[in-house]
Amino acid sequence: MGRVSAERREDLVASYREARDCVKCALSAGRTQVVFGAGNADADLMFVGEAPGFHEDRQGVPFVGRAGKLLDELLAEQGLARESVFITNTVLCRPPENRDPQPEEIATCRPYLERKVELIEPKVICTLGNFATKLLTGSPQGITRVHGVPQEREMGGRTVKLFPIFHPAAALRTPAVKQQLREDFARLPALLGEAPFGDASQSGG
Ligand code: URA
Repeated sequence: MGRVSAERREDLVASYREARDCVKCALSAGRTQVVFGAGNADADLMFVGEAPGFHEDRQGVPFVGRAGKLLDELLAEQGLARESVFITNTVLCRPPENRDPQPEEIATCRPYLERKVELIEPKVICTLGNFATKLLTGSPQGITRVHGVPQEREMGGRTVKLFPIFHPAAALRTPAVKQQLREDFARLPALLGEAPFGDASQSGG
């Protein structure tokens, strides 16, 4: 049963307030602000990227740079607005010089992600690139092997459909990756329309 929207929003704001003051890992020392995530608290679709970059750290909003523009473009191609989805990252603070987030930083930040999944209850979580994919699948298999194939996982106390896809920043560097990302995006409307794994009541079966 879904949560009431107003209650969900209040709980998300409470989680944001906790994250805003978080000093649980070294990344807190270098941030301008925590980039908690943005979008629709009732979203069926959530995106999990890697980490905030320069612009995200300044603006407090995920995916506002070039990779974000591509994300917006790919969403629009599928008739989806950024405002209808929820976007966040594996870590909520910008790593110094945009270095890779470290395993202990990702692990420390994980409860904030779990809480968002618990509250928002997305049907589909798109993991963007290797960091988010390895974190949420719990498998060392990289994005090149696993992209475009949905996986069932337990998260935030429920079963969700993970859909690993390439990171838009990788797509900006390599045209073939962009094409693959576009093809994987084209599967999203159907995935969102499908019943959650194991829920026969919504598939007519
Ligand atoms: N890349 C990410 O992974 N996340 C952002 O928020 C921006 C760029």
